[in-house]
Amino acid sequence: MPQLGHRALPLPQSSPELARTGPRRFPLESYPLGQAFPNFFLGATRSLGYIRKAKKRYRPRGREKVGGQFRNGPPHSGWKRLSNVTSSLKAMTEMPQKTILKGLTLDELRQWVVQQGWERFRADQIFSWLYTKRARSFQEMTDIGKAVRQRLGEIADVGLLPVLKTVTSAETGTVKFLLGLRDGNTVECVYIPEKNRRTVCLSSQVGCPLGCTFCATGQMGFRRNLAAWEILEQLLVVERTIGQKLTNVVFMGMGEPLLNYQEVMRAADLISDERGISISHRKIVISTVGIVGRIRRMAEEERPYRLAISLNAADDDTRTQIMPINRRYKIHELLEAAKYYYEKTRRRVTFEYVLIRGVNDRKRDAERLVQLLRGFPCKINLIPYNETVPEYQRPSLEHVERFSRWLRPLPAPIIVRWSRGRDIRAACGQLWSEGMQERTPSPFASSGETSPA
Ligand code: SF4
Repeated sequence: MPQLGHRALPLPQSSPELARTGPRRFPLESYPLGQAFPNFFLGATRSLGYIRKAKKRYRPRGREKVGGQFRNGPPHSGWKRLSNVTSSLKAMTEMPQKTILKGLTLDELRQWVVQQGWERFRADQIFSWLYTKRARSFQEMTDIGKAVRQRLGEIADVGLLPVLKTVTSAETGTVKFLLGLRDGNTVECVYIPEKNRRTVCLSSQVGCPLGCTFCATGQMGFRRNLAAWEILEQLLVVERTIGQKLTNVVFMGMGEPLLNYQEVMRAADLISDERGISISHRKIVISTVGIVGRIRRMAEEERPYRLAISLNAADDDTRTQIMPINRRYKIHELLEAAKYYYEKTRRRVTFEYVLIRGVNDRKRDAERLVQLLRGFPCKINLIPYNETVPEYQRPSLEHVERFSRWLRPLPAPIIVRWSRGRDIRAACGQLWSEGMQERTPSPFASSGETSPA
């Protein structure tokens, strides 16, 4: 008896019997593998059938089979048409792509410049034009020779994104931008002016796979990760629009930044590069719902950015109800990762707590939160819910103050952060969903055009 795993499988027919009766045809299912994997064989035979049918269906129309031979029509005409299509498709895919220079580090840019046969200092010039002078085209880079600029326009791309829509809050001056991506998707970023600082809130993904029930982005599902240059361009669009340098950056827009770790870290490194945008790493906040492995990785790689964790509940049941990611990483695992981060970096973690009426704003929630965070050096941001999903409401001002008082036993600083774009529906994902309903097309979507060089 041949053994396959734990199953004993009989052969369909023994050899002496075969010698006696002569060769016979067996259904595939009667062979050992056929018994073990009937679906595989069924699938394979069906696929063969599909291929045969497809061959018949796509036989060139100019050639019909007559008397077992293809006779009618000009020879090869049908195949030729088909091969024309495939060769033009091939040509399209083989078309040289322009290199998007935004998103390259200075070292990478130097390498690229040397590969083109230019001197290294050209890279420093381009880097400065891209990030400090926020150039929109190579033609603006006037300290670079005309011939080099022309060649740059042929082989490279500055990496621009068009602004499809802006909404400005009359109350606070907060501006929300909807940007068109080149694949037809759109993404949002928000400019938040305050007394002493100018903050941009950046998106890291188109949509979000985590589906927090109170979040507009969470309701739209996940489309894709953003490339570093698409993240950087959000910031540069805001700087170009307001005509001033930003002072603070928060990764709190659409998407979970730690699920797009490489590109977010690349963008943050470029934002804090003193030779370019030069925003201090202490002013860059990466906000996560708590991807535990990535928090540990941030600590191990000694990333200098500030970490904020959206906690939003002090017990697993409530947190799972509003944040499905809690099924994967329970609160105690998250806190262990946060403590590990603190021990490695000695930087305090900020816990964000979105207050939702009747869901996580009860006295017992505050008491649990006190128990949970007692003795852990951290900061707490209380954020009254910005009503984006009709099922949830924001608590009253008095109740927010009461909740804040209940947390007083904690030595951690507690800051109440009111949303600054309520009148323009500035919570992440809101403008996106409105924009998509209006089906605002990206100017690049149909033409396949790249940005002006
Ligand atoms: S809150 Fe953040 S992680 Fe949760 S769905 Fe929204 S964007 Fe994603």
